[in-house]
Amino acid sequence: MTTVMTELRKIGQRHSEMETAWSWYEVAQRTVKKFFSLFAFPTAPRGVIPLFRFGSTLVTLHTSFMLVILGAVWLGWYQYRSISGMIFNVVAVVLLFACVLIHEIAHTLWARKVGVLVFDITLLPIGGVANMEQRTISPTDEVRIALAGPVANLVLGTVFTGMVLVAAVLDQVSLLRFIVEGLRQPSLVGLVSYLAAANLILGLFNLLPALPLDGGRALRALLCRRMSYEKATQVAAIIGRSCGAGLLAIAGGMYLIGWLPYALTLAIVALILYSEATRELRAVRAQSALRKWTVGQLAHAAKHIVTPNQPLASVLSAITNGQIVPVVVGDQSKLVGLVTSADVRGRTGRIVDLNIAHVMRTKFPTVTINDPLWIAHEKLKQSNLYAIPVVCDDSLLNGMITLADIRQALRENRDRERQQRT
Ligand SMILES: [Zn+2]
Repeated sequence: MTTVMTELRKIGQRHSEMETAWSWYEVAQRTVKKFFSLFAFPTAPRGVIPLFRFGSTLVTLHTSFMLVILGAVWLGWYQYRSISGMIFNVVAVVLLFACVLIHEIAHTLWARKVGVLVFDITLLPIGGVANMEQRTISPTDEVRIALAGPVANLVLGTVFTGMVLVAAVLDQVSLLRFIVEGLRQPSLVGLVSYLAAANLILGLFNLLPALPLDGGRALRALLCRRMSYEKATQVAAIIGRSCGAGLLAIAGGMYLIGWLPYALTLAIVALILYSEATRELRAVRAQSALRKWTVGQLAHAAKHIVTPNQPLASVLSAITNGQIVPVVVGDQSKLVGLVTSADVRGRTGRIVDLNIAHVMRTKFPTVTINDPLWIAHEKLKQSNLYAIPVVCDDSLLNGMITLADIRQALRENRDRERQQRT
């Protein structure tokens, strides 16, 4: 069987992109994904394993989560020097992430209550992320959605603490001794105590009024009553950065007194908090810039244009170089399709026999020159495309807009703002 890949080699085109697709990492990732997709939903973004659907929300697990499991196995051996210790730690981590999932589900339920769609929930090694629809809601609803997650953890933490407390009373030993004894070896008491502490820490930490934490989102929503969204984000993100810097200093103190594992964990959390707060700040500045500009200000003519009956080989080089080629018909260039490297990859058959019409996609997003730039940015992000066509009436091709154009404009805008500030 002759595949497109071998044809590409024959005609000596660049195919680095396709070769990367066959790297061992992707093969492993595809195998894991395929295995899990036997039990769940086959459609999910790259790098995640779909687990199950919760109403209209797809729950997925990031493949890097496997590192957490490996870490738990290693720590189990390090702590207990036994197989049961390793199994105990894996069970503890899985249950902890079940609590993280409950946190995200609490956000989801409140979001649904006020009519906000939650597309998916992804469990990452650093916690969970609920991907919600961007729409305007009242500050009170925003606060409720933000606080629902930490409150769920505090409730769970209280329930687990209560369970340990009751067991300690029934055993007629002091609570502290009960917990210390329980943690010495893998045991149910140790497990419940761990979950109690983890949930209370998760709940309280997320209530810090610092972006990107839930408390920070609640604070921003409250500040929005008095100031603009951008200004409110700035305040909450600056608190986020300060909390990150403060936690890093505490981690340094822990390191000095010899608490290395705790210092390391706290330092990672502090650095993530600091960099995510910075990212929020940049994102909101970018968003306000994107709202000021229109697509027409950045769109440019398409480098290559093809017709459906043209041979694929004529633009293969451009496509494998990452270009997205619009397909048009007629004198007025009516847009009918789009060809991308993803449409060609994995296709079997002799490439010289293929026409553009065989591979082009007919469903894709478009924008008009009068659309605000943020709409183009959203469509590019959602479609996972590098460029999308710009059209005028009756889908006549007007040009293309690329992510690189938008990023370049944002960079220039950031530099301009920086110069104005200094
Ligand atoms: Zn949350």
